[in-house]
Order: sequence, then C-alpha cells, then structure tokens
Amino acid sequence: MADRILLIEDEPLVRDLVVLNLRHAGYEVRTAGTFAEGEAALAEAKADLAIVDVMLPGGEGFVLVRQARDNGLKVPILMLTARSDVQSRVRGLDCGADDYLTKPFDVAELLARVRSLLRRASGTVAGPPKQLELGKFWIRFDTGRALTHEGEVTLSDKELKLMELFARNEDKVLSRADILEEVWGMDAFPTDRTIDNFVLRLRRLFEANPEEPARLITVRGRGYLFKKA
Ligand code: CA
Repeated sequence: MADRILLIEDEPLVRDLVVLNLRHAGYEVRTAGTFAEGEAALAEAKADLAIVDVMLPGGEGFVLVRQARDNGLKVPILMLTARSDVQSRVRGLDCGADDYLTKPFDVAELLARVRSLLRRASGTVAGPPKQLELGKFWIRFDTGRALTHEGEVTLSDKELKLMELFARNEDKVLSRADILEEVWGMDAFPTDRTIDNFVLRLRRLFEANPEEPARLITVRGRGYLFKKA
C-alpha cells in the first residue's frame, strides 16, 4: 500500500508543486490549507507522514505539531518554513517535528527527506547492529574499532555511520541521496564525490580485492549495493 502523506500548507503554488511531486513518486496525498483543517486532519491520524508549514492561516505550524504530539501522534513530521534561522529550527524540533526544510526548497530534497523519514519510521531500519563480520574482517560499532587491510584501526564517525547504513540495508541499492540523508543528515550536504571517496576508502579497508569490489558494489546510475560476501 502506498504511504499516505498529509500536507498542511496554505500557499497554493507550493501545495500544488509538492502534491504533484509526491503523487508522481507514488504517495497518496491529502492536503489541508489552514490551522483548523490541519488540526482536524492530524486528529484523524490517517497519515504515515505529515508535512507542516509554519505560517498557516489561524495559527502557527509549531503549535499544531506540539498539539498533535501531545495527543499521541507518532508519525514523522517534516516542517516547512520560510526562515532558516536557528531559532525557527530549534522551535521546529522542540515542538516535536522530526526534520525541517527551509523555503524555497528543492523538490528533490523534499522527496529525499520524506523517503528517509518513512524509512526510519517503517521499522525496516532496525537499531544499529553491534558488530559486522566481513570475511576475515570485522567492525564493532560500539567501539568504532575494525579489523581491516591496515590492521586494527578506529573508524571515523562517518565511516562507521556509512558501514552501519550498509549493514542495515544488505542487498538493497542505496542512492547517493539516501546516503547523504542518512549519514550526513540535514545540516551539511557534501557532493556525490564525497560519498564516492568514502566508499573508495572503505573498499581499501574491507574488500578482499579493492579493485574488484564484492561487498561495496557500484550500481551504475543508481548508487551502491552492499553484500556481506
Ligand atoms: Ca504558509
């Protein structure tokens, strides 16, 4: 069944653009255009994810989200705001939103955030594994230590996060956008090249033959596929 998204946004242009793109991506979308409509729609709790604009006729999105959380709503919430200042961001996260996007935003980025929030919420993303065995190599996620081609080393935070993400998604293709979202999060957006460099480095550590990767496999035009091999 398609994931259901509730969009609470009063600006017709933004609403139409987002609805069009979400539907195109296969989601079922409902909309609300005011604070009161949003309140009613959230209370029905029929969505898998809500996107909430901050400035709504009748009240602030922050208040709407706080209320919904107080009423026990658990679904992921992405806030949209025209302001990128720290204060708005902190308020957004404090009121119980899971993520935050500043207008004007790129639709591709919105879709990446939506995918990421739904993935996290769906439970397909289990808690991080404690340890990963890769043939003769291993990684211990609690200590960050790993046995590699270079002997026993301490992996960097990003290297660990990336390997954790791969470990949780064995045999699934992860796009570079997925990886950016999960490993780098919402603050910094490095280039695709950054990811490729991390993968190259991880291959040198964990592939039996880094020139012919059997664990961190490039899927042309789509991203990366991890196999424990
Ligand atoms: Ca608005």
